[in-house]
Amino acid sequence: MIRHVILGAGVAGITAAEAIRASDQTADITIVSEDPHGFYSRPGLAYYLSGELPEKQLYVYSKEDWQRLNVRFVQARATRLLPQEHRLELGEAGALIYDRLLLATGSTAVRLNIPGAELQGVVKLDTFDDTRHIFTLARRARSAVVVGGGIIAVELVEGLRAQGLNVHYFLRGERYWPNVLDEKESRLVEKRLAEHGINLHYHTDAAEILEKRGKVAGVRTAKGENIRCEIVAAGIGVRPRMELAQAAGLATERGILVDEYLQTSQADIFAAGDAAQVFDPLTGISSIDTLWYPARQQGRAAAQNMTGGRQPFRRNVAVNVLRLAGVMIAIIGSVGTGEEPLDVARGSSETWRRLPNTIAVGSGGGVNQVRLTIGEQTLLGAVVMGEQTLARPLQELISNQVDITPVRDQLLQPSMPLGQVLMDFWYTTSGKPS
Ligand SMILES: Cc1cc2nc3c(=O)[nH]c(=O)nc-3n(C[C@H](O)[C@H](O)[C@H](O)COP(=O)(O)OP(=O)(O)OC[C@H]3O[C@@H](n4cnc5c(N)ncnc54)[C@H](O)[C@@H]3O)c2cc1C
Repeated sequence: MIRHVILGAGVAGITAAEAIRASDQTADITIVSEDPHGFYSRPGLAYYLSGELPEKQLYVYSKEDWQRLNVRFVQARATRLLPQEHRLELGEAGALIYDRLLLATGSTAVRLNIPGAELQGVVKLDTFDDTRHIFTLARRARSAVVVGGGIIAVELVEGLRAQGLNVHYFLRGERYWPNVLDEKESRLVEKRLAEHGINLHYHTDAAEILEKRGKVAGVRTAKGENIRCEIVAAGIGVRPRMELAQAAGLATERGILVDEYLQTSQADIFAAGDAAQVFDPLTGISSIDTLWYPARQQGRAAAQNMTGGRQPFRRNVAVNVLRLAGVMIAIIGSVGTGEEPLDVARGSSETWRRLPNTIAVGSGGGVNQVRLTIGEQTLLGAVVMGEQTLARPLQELISNQVDITPVRDQLLQPSMPLGQVLMDFWYTTSGKPS
């Protein structure tokens, strides 16, 4: 019987286990994870922190689901991988021998690298235990400083505010998340944050965390200003967890390199989810997504190939629909500034920032805004803020690479009602009744 070992109990690992079990009721499956809380919704942590989601709703799996999955679960940290011996070492918990191994090790938050970063009161939002730790600290704190530019930083800002703290948000440049949002979109998020009582500090870097008896007492900025606080929270990106793969000699770059079959440079070892840098034969580029849905799809595809199939993974257009500073926002496909990714941000995709020969057009004002990235014949990306009626049509038009030639000129005319043109076109092309 083939021994399947899955390292990681996140959505990629669990979906892989589901797919292996679906194909073989008698398959031997072991899941290893060091997280004592097992499988839970990581995106849900932000809503748990803000008090909107009760703890029990974080758990995606019920007891019955676990029984049905029928896997051996080992709570331990994997410490060494020996591909030649097909052996995964688990420190004091022993070792496992595998025939097929899936590395679904996810990613971990990048830590601040400034003096004082090790002090009690410096936090991140990565795991269930991180969230609990923030709750505990927040009970005795009055103020917090948050640094970072993407989704997680704003989720930390909102979560800490919801705990009743006075929150200072440091932005490195002159606006929020400039390599994904345009200026209007950034300003909308900033305006909402200011309305929620957040103190925004532009062009501000944390240079040092100040201490009092081993705990955070404040932050000194690069400009020399001191801000008192008891918590410093960082949402400055993530690193795919590839240390085991690297030490074992597997090919890695920004993540664990896999081909379109999710296979690593070792034939019996696969990788999926946040940890994997996946090759796309259509573009010839290997990218990292740190998104829930692609992790799920990759877990499923890897499982098919671990059980003897030969199924290429086809990358869908990367989408995230979330709430930022109280505003709904859908980010679909390529929308960024085209800058090469310097870091990996949680809840995003490297593909968002690739922009070959495109024109950006936008419409709407206030809280409801739409921005399109228009290619020669197709739509390549969109940001929909506020009202979400257009999000699904746009996702379909972009994913299906629908030829927009009939409406391209209209979309480029500033005087045209963008929303109406898109809806009419979508009805026509999808055959849906208007
Ligand atoms: C606060 C937050 C907000 C997010 N928001 C969004 C969002 O809005 N939209 C979206 O699409 N995505 C979002 N994400 C990202 C999304 O949750 C991840 O992309 C997804 O969970 C990745 O799943 P994964 O299975 O690859 O990895 P993970 O869920 O990270 O699971 C990896 C597992 O591997 C285990 N592990 C790693 N190394 C070892 C080892 N050596 N030994 C033992 N166990 C190990 C870990 O303990 C963990 O259980 C968010 C994430 C967070 C934390």
